[in-house]
Amino acid sequence: MAEVLIIEDDDRIRPLLVKGLRECGHAVTSAPTGMAGLQLAVDSSPDLVVLDLGLPDVDGTQVLSMLRGVSQVPVIIASARDDDPSLVGALDAGADDYVVKPFTSVQLDARVRAVLRRVDAGRQRPSSITVGGLVVDVTGRRVHLDDREVDLTPREFDLLAHLAERPGEVVTKRDLLVEVWRQPWGGADKTVDVHLSWLRRKLGET
Ligand code: CA
Repeated sequence: MAEVLIIEDDDRIRPLLVKGLRECGHAVTSAPTGMAGLQLAVDSSPDLVVLDLGLPDVDGTQVLSMLRGVSQVPVIIASARDDDPSLVGALDAGADDYVVKPFTSVQLDARVRAVLRRVDAGRQRPSSITVGGLVVDVTGRRVHLDDREVDLTPREFDLLAHLAERPGEVVTKRDLLVEVWRQPWGGADKTVDVHLSWLRRKLGET
């Protein structure tokens, strides 16, 4: 399952795509214009964007260029245009895939899953992460702070590794519950607070 944002101005096609991808198990939001879509893409950080090219306000290729200025979210272009310049232009602007209308939602779902698999494969964990004096050996599951080994529980290690991989990024408690605790639904934010405070104590307020 992925969070998918559909940017499509056609009032007949948009609900069909939303419904189709929901039936394939995705969480889907949509926007009818380029600017509204861009705003949603930034605000809700979806896992993937399906983008039409012929939009009423800004051309899809421009939407894509603007989006690429702020985000590396995978983008599938879904357009009736099947000419080479459109296709090449979109891929050059940073699209990950291109589907020509008409297509079925089953086909689109297959593309969505293929693109996400590729992105995942490219995002494989590094074997070690260094942030300042902190060295996280991901493979060996050991942590050193200023050359001193820090003794962590497996959960604390997972939490630290997850945070160290994303220096400077805002990570929400919800993200941590999903990614570290694998509890997308009933998890308690309190659990995260407690583990974070243990981790802070062991590392000193770094
Ligand atoms: Ca259109």
